[in-house]
Amino acid sequence: MSMYDVLVVGGSTTGCWFAYQMAKQGFKVLVIEKEEPENVSRSYDIFHMSKQEMEQFDLEIPDESSPVRAFAFDGSPLYSPYGNFPRRSTASPTTIGLHKHDYIMLMAERAEKAGAEILYGASFSDFIYDDKKRIAGAKYITKDGEKEVTARIVADCSGIPSVARTKLPDTSVVENFKLSNRDILYVVLYYAEYLDKNLDPRKLDGFFMQYKSWSAPSGNKNGAILGIGASCGYAYAEEVYNNQFMKNVKFPEYKVEKIEKGMTPYHRSVYSFVDDGFIVMGDAAFLTKPTCGEGCTSSLVQGEIAVEVISKHLRNDSFLTKEKLWSINKRYMQAQGKDFDSMRPLLYGIVSASHDEAEFMFANDVIFSQSILGNMDTGITVTGKDIADILKGVTSGIAKKNLRPATIGRIVKGLMQSMEVGKLYDAYPEKPSDFYVWKAKADTLWSKIGSISDTCDPEILRKLGM
Ligand SMILES: Cc1cc2nc3c(=O)[nH]c(=O)nc-3n(C[C@H](O)[C@H](O)[C@H](O)COP(=O)(O)OP(=O)(O)OC[C@H]3O[C@@H](n4cnc5c(N)ncnc54)[C@H](O)[C@@H]3O)c2cc1C
Repeated sequence: MSMYDVLVVGGSTTGCWFAYQMAKQGFKVLVIEKEEPENVSRSYDIFHMSKQEMEQFDLEIPDESSPVRAFAFDGSPLYSPYGNFPRRSTASPTTIGLHKHDYIMLMAERAEKAGAEILYGASFSDFIYDDKKRIAGAKYITKDGEKEVTARIVADCSGIPSVARTKLPDTSVVENFKLSNRDILYVVLYYAEYLDKNLDPRKLDGFFMQYKSWSAPSGNKNGAILGIGASCGYAYAEEVYNNQFMKNVKFPEYKVEKIEKGMTPYHRSVYSFVDDGFIVMGDAAFLTKPTCGEGCTSSLVQGEIAVEVISKHLRNDSFLTKEKLWSINKRYMQAQGKDFDSMRPLLYGIVSASHDEAEFMFANDVIFSQSILGNMDTGITVTGKDIADILKGVTSGIAKKNLRPATIGRIVKGLMQSMEVGKLYDAYPEKPSDFYVWKAKADTLWSKIGSISDTCDPEILRKLGM
């Protein structure tokens, strides 16, 4: 049986990136991917990442002539529910659109050139353990039957199914629950072609937070991807798209060329990513952006820390215990986890506003101001002046009956819970022995915060018989 330093489960964006980063340092890396190469990541065609983040995370940027590259564009604004009051991200980075399957194949090739081995058609089935009951590798199934491989660390990069994490014993410091459909964004992409050949679709691009909908380039100069992400299922997403988004925001006539569907996690990150000989990364650890559910680059904030810490310990001969890997948890919570997860309760409060209320708030710079939304890509920061402006706007909105006290109550509750999450994550334990006391507090807080599905419209749920 061959012995690897790193066994990566899942050969999509996170798995190929991590395999490359480890192999290029000379470590012996094996990736097992359940699909055959031609079938990897086929659920949707186009995805995008900011150029700045691609450079930051050492992701290859295909040049303009490459068939892998579909387009590039400069970030688009956030709009009110009726398509007014654009707010722009202060970063406003150039964004590159790529064909997902082809780009992953490029990432795989780069990992292989650096020395990683990739085994396609190899599906993780379980861990193997050493005589001290510590993870020592994995079993996987191929068309030739079940095989085993030993490794000093197993990295679960298998996306939503989290096939390795969910096989961990209940005694693990890494939670082993399966993601429920209440904690998933169901994404529907409509590839639209505008009937008026003279219009510029890029002038219509934008993000519409109240419907979790957007218009973005599709690679076709006369078209766009009109997309929506919603919890509670695809039928719910389609209902909001057709009966709210398309009715309230006037898009010129278009025909739908094709429709694609896919899922992305919408859940706080797992509390601990590491255990003895184990790490969970990417969608399997729920590292997607709370504002839009994108995860290809946001997951690499944890990835970069993991590469540094794991490499250091792999260079010594000793076993990779959770104590040695623990700084990955602590550093990630400070670098991004705290910002992402504290944003969630506030967003739940904000999306509970009706369309008319949200329109009023955009018009009057209440919460939806350029100052607050300008940095929403990385984490919402609310200054003392922002709070004073919010209070002024809310008081006037309630007096004029543009805002219901109940809505404001939900937003304020969200804001308070955001601050509580921030405080708790600042106090993330320095060592695993203090973890369970912290986890008990975190569980209590998150059970009060609830899930994105709690914000689904009960009328739509009734209409769909859900
Ligand atoms: C419609 C849609 C559009 C999106 N657009 C964007 C975007 O524009 N930008 C962005 O950043 N994010 C986007 N996202 C989110 C993005 O797709 C994910 O965050 C990202 O793909 C996560 O990568 P991953 O490698 O962690 O997991 P995945 O891409 O889910 O990969 C997991 C891999 O593990 C493999 N696997 C599963 N089970 C096993 C097993 N038993 N054994 C071995 N291998 C296994 C799978 O076959 C797969 O290849 C979008 C999501 C959707 C649904």
